[in-house]
Amino acid sequence: MNKLMLYVHIPFCERKCNYCDFVSFNAKYDVIDAYIMKLLEEIESKSYLANGYEISSIYIGGGTPSFIDKKYIAFIMESLYKHYKVDSNAEISIEGNPNSLDSEKLKAYMDLGINRLSIGLQSANDDELKILGRVHNYNDFLNAYNSAIHVGFKNINIDIINGIPFQTPDTYKKTLKAILMLNIKHISIYNLIIENGTPFKTMLAENKITLPLETDIVKMDEITRELTDYYRLHRYEISNYGKDGFECRHNLGYWSDVPYLGFGLNSSSYIKNIRLKNKVHFNDYIALDYKNYMLSDNQNGYYDEIKMIDEKEHMNEYTMLGFRKTTGINIDDFYKTFNKEFEEKYKANIKYYRSMELLCKKGNNYFLSDKGLDISNKIIADFMQ
Ligand code: SF4
Repeated sequence: MNKLMLYVHIPFCERKCNYCDFVSFNAKYDVIDAYIMKLLEEIESKSYLANGYEISSIYIGGGTPSFIDKKYIAFIMESLYKHYKVDSNAEISIEGNPNSLDSEKLKAYMDLGINRLSIGLQSANDDELKILGRVHNYNDFLNAYNSAIHVGFKNINIDIINGIPFQTPDTYKKTLKAILMLNIKHISIYNLIIENGTPFKTMLAENKITLPLETDIVKMDEITRELTDYYRLHRYEISNYGKDGFECRHNLGYWSDVPYLGFGLNSSSYIKNIRLKNKVHFNDYIALDYKNYMLSDNQNGYYDEIKMIDEKEHMNEYTMLGFRKTTGINIDDFYKTFNKEFEEKYKANIKYYRSMELLCKKGNNYFLSDKGLDISNKIIADFMQ
């Protein structure tokens, strides 16, 4: 049976972080309740799209899914199990923040079959957490992490950020070391990007924050390489490191052309070469009548965007996402997908980047070298034609 992945978006957070441009906000109980009811309608109404597919992974992300009452997560999981054919071995992840993950919630998640937890820590340094506008401190994280281990979570990811204002290679090293010493199985490390419309953008313009120098970022990347090697977490994607067998199957699916359905505000679906983008405005989403979705003459009205992905765009995305993985692109898979020879299609680029040792070949896979991954945006842009 073909694989399909499901994503569920929970857009609520206790407070907006200073760097965040995601679709997320605080809301009162009645708003959260109305949103979840709409989400359940959407999950049920779209189940016919999954006919013939088996669900290989589920990801409940946000926002902060752990911010809402655990009963809502139960409603969501029950609906997914009821209306979709979920593989008994599926990876089921939920995101949470340290201050809203307590033993009771974690135990409830486990009982619902959730088997992977992703904790947004960002830094082990309380001053840096304050600058980021996070609502927790490092001790909150330790409590949440220990509770998760105690209730039986074996597959836990920790998110951290480098390039935080005023961060130094030394403070970054302390964060990374503190986490890796917990015998963590997976870590995602994102470089801070100052996005338009965020408090950080204004603070930077007003000289209230200073970003680390580019040379310090390079040092932080070296620290990442040294410490993840030492603690035996291998880099399997530009920003992701895991112990063997703990790579995130859901994210690997996104980078490997596996179709998915997304539910909730601003979520995306990609199935049968069609990309569907859900409503981004809360009131537009809440006003939809999903009960008539399947028979509706105007399914366009349910989305902000519906797009047929033609072969050129599909190939560009396949190449862009494939090069994010450290295993890169398998030329046999490429041929099976497009009926075209990868080496023929990208002859000039392959020759150029191999001569610069930014692109490597092992067996039937082409992948970016460590140096290549550092400038992946440029290389990927050249491959996209
Ligand atoms: S917790 Fe995450 S989604 Fe929520 S405001 Fe902070 S960065 Fe954004």
